[in-house]
Amino acid sequence: MSTKRDQRIADETLQHDAALMCRVGGCPNPWSVDGPAGRCCSAHAWAQPHQWARITDEQLDAQARRAMRASQEQPKPRKRPMTIDEKRAIGQKLRQAIRQQGGRQWAHKLRDREQRGEKLTEAQRSMWRDALGVHDEPAQAPLVEPAPQAEFDDGPYIADVQDELEAAPW
Ligand SMILES: [Zn+2]
Repeated sequence: MSTKRDQRIADETLQHDAALMCRVGGCPNPWSVDGPAGRCCSAHAWAQPHQWARITDEQLDAQARRAMRASQEQPKPRKRPMTIDEKRAIGQKLRQAIRQQGGRQWAHKLRDREQRGEKLTEAQRSMWRDALGVHDEPAQAPLVEPAPQAEFDDGPYIADVQDELEAAPW
């Protein structure tokens, strides 16, 4: 749209930059000494013209080394999107935390109801056993608390439990 204006600004910037640079062609340094040879960087200012090319090379090398060091010192941590595996891992931790934070109250209630002789649905029976790490003979089995099953994909399971909880009349 305003390419002419952009071009003008670019030209002015280049001229401006050029005016700041060492007058030796190809030198990457800004001038810092206004000496007999004109405005030069300190490396060129005191050198004989026949040495300029070598000095320019040295200045370019030094600049390249500085740039290299700078790029090595500041490896920018690039933000990348989370992978599916990372999202799954986070989801699993969340579900595990939900289960551990008193999330088994419902399981104890179901177990109590069953032990009082109430008839539970098959789903309820297996759910509280899963949640409490009980598998056979619930009356005798030790109810060891920390029994999270890490590999178990319990996303749908949690949803089922929440449905059950909402439907349950306790
Ligand atoms: Zn120079």
